[in-house]
Amino acid sequence: MKQQMYRLNEFFNQTVFRSLLVPLLLIILGIFAIHSIQIMTIIENQKKDLIERFHQEAQVRVHGQADEIEMILGNIETQLLSIQNVIEDYYKNQIDFIVNKRDRFEIRQDDQGFYYKPESHIGSGVVFMPQASPTKQDITDAYNLERLDHLSIPLVDRNDHVVAAWMNLENYMVRYYPFFDMRHILEPDMDLKSFNFYYEADPVHNPQMQNIWTTPYLDPAMKGWMTSRVAPIRKEHTFLGVFGIDVNIQDILMTLPQTDEDIYQTEIFITNSQGDLYAISERLKQFFDLNRLKEYTDGKSLATEIVQPEQLTILNPDNNALTTQIRPLFKKSSYVKVDYKESHYYIYSAPIKNIGWKIFNVVEERQLLSRLNTIEKENLRISITASFAFITLFLIIILNLRHKVKKSAVLISRPIEELSKATKDLRGFRRKEDEQILEISELYDDFYEMSREVVQNDDILNQRVDERTEELNEKIKTIEELQVKLIDQSIRDPLTDLFNRRYGNDVLSRESSQAILEEEPLAIAMIDIDHFKDVNDNYGHQEGDTVLIKLSSIIRAFIKHRDVAVRYGGEEFLLILPRYSKVEASALVSKIRYRYHELMIESNYLEHGLTLSAGIASFPEDSNSVEVVIDLADKALYDSKKGGRDTITIYSAK
Ligand code: GH3
Ligand code: MG
Ligand code: MG
Repeated sequence: MKQQMYRLNEFFNQTVFRSLLVPLLLIILGIFAIHSIQIMTIIENQKKDLIERFHQEAQVRVHGQADEIEMILGNIETQLLSIQNVIEDYYKNQIDFIVNKRDRFEIRQDDQGFYYKPESHIGSGVVFMPQASPTKQDITDAYNLERLDHLSIPLVDRNDHVVAAWMNLENYMVRYYPFFDMRHILEPDMDLKSFNFYYEADPVHNPQMQNIWTTPYLDPAMKGWMTSRVAPIRKEHTFLGVFGIDVNIQDILMTLPQTDEDIYQTEIFITNSQGDLYAISERLKQFFDLNRLKEYTDGKSLATEIVQPEQLTILNPDNNALTTQIRPLFKKSSYVKVDYKESHYYIYSAPIKNIGWKIFNVVEERQLLSRLNTIEKENLRISITASFAFITLFLIIILNLRHKVKKSAVLISRPIEELSKATKDLRGFRRKEDEQILEISELYDDFYEMSREVVQNDDILNQRVDERTEELNEKIKTIEELQVKLIDQSIRDPLTDLFNRRYGNDVLSRESSQAILEEEPLAIAMIDIDHFKDVNDNYGHQEGDTVLIKLSSIIRAFIKHRDVAVRYGGEEFLLILPRYSKVEASALVSKIRYRYHELMIESNYLEHGLTLSAGIASFPEDSNSVEVVIDLADKALYDSKKGGRDTITIYSAK
């Protein structure tokens, strides 16, 4: 199986990415996931906490509102008690307040039978219904009661919730503050005693003669839905009539102190213990589909129905879906969760004890959770930012790591490449001084040491080779010299060092051809020592050799460079003389003969043995065969011998 090969950089990259970055990324993603789950759990818990806390706060708030209303109503109850006492005190003691004429006011009678007070004078409006036939005392009472208005006027003027303070008496006197001409709303034959704000306090309906809150009704003076705190007025045990304070229920609701910052858009409504609606915000009217409430509120005539209609109940049987969910609030529950029209609502309630009503707060869950959603969104934003930052950071790390890995790879691969290259040029390799990595530095040092050693050994080896080569050359030279010598020896006569006969034949063959080509003569001279035998006989063979050597030296001294001298026999010599005529050859041989003769005389040899004889022939003049020419030269020599020796004979055909 073949192992896969990588470049160092790739190998590092793969190692780093596979074994470091990928696991790191997985770990970080895991941490992210756990963190996200934690955050989600925290938010979920925060939601629960917030809702739980909100429930508690909402309950505290709705109870606070109930307390506030109780206080408002309680305050009215107390003030009514004072007024009731003062009025009953007046009837009991019949104190006459009328001291000045200015305290009186004009009471007129109109054509419908109304006795009425045309101007406000001090305070209240006053009307005697047409049924009345006011006595003098009744009129006096009307004046005196005017003086008592100082109790009810501040009550109305300074209290936001109090709309009016009024008095209806058995003698058909009607008082009403603030002043207005009541004849515009009162029908002449209207019996005010038949209205709930009167009869609910009368001895028949109220035998205990207590102060009561009326059931809500539409205000005859068009002030909206009212309830009145009504006190029966008595003289001894005689029922004289009622004194009432009108409270606009909607106003109570509107003036409830708003929670400091009602970010939840809480809506409020008030019902009695049966769920009949007494006050409700516009938005809630839509919510409960109670738009009908408006037309009753806007009713024109006091003669029409003024009592709260049964349909205006929060426990409306026509709206069973809602009723079922709200009903628990009328039993024990302090709040319910209501699903209505595809939304979720929390409804909190608290009893308003002194009147037996209930106040309700409605909060849409969406509003409640909107803050939490803000937190969630913020968290999401942080998460996205964090993720983005993390990815950026991770990319920077990856790029940085890639860069570092590449650098590291180069740091290691460069020395390897350099060392690999250095193996081809060990002599050029220099020790590295600036290497950062210790191991590589050591490798360089070791490599350097090794390279020096190798170079040194190489030098020694080269030197030896050179020496051997020189020795070899020396030997080759000797051999060549020996060869030359050998060749020389093979063509020369060892005693005289002249060429031998075999070589002479080669020269003859070469020179005869040359002579033909050049058209030049080739002279052949045959020389023979005279009576040489006697030299041997008289002086010994060795001396004979000396004579032979001496003659050879003479011959060598006289011939030119192209001339060739051959020892042809024992004491016979052949001269091959290119471009010599026979005469020229004869002249040369003559010089040799004379010199030989001289030398022999100088040497004191035999008298007659000091000469030599010669014969000369020419090629191709005498024959076109060299062999024949030699014979002819030999023949001429024989002639010289025969003629007495010590002479040179030139062959001639004649
Ligand atoms: P001629 O004048 O007729 O030529 O008489 P010669 O004595 O010279 O001739 P001959 O042929 O009778 O004798 C030749 C002698 O030369 C015989 C031989 O002993 C001698 N001789 C031949 N070669 C050598 C040699 O190499 N050394 C010596 N010392 N003598 C030699
Ligand atoms: Mg001879
Ligand atoms: Mg001889």
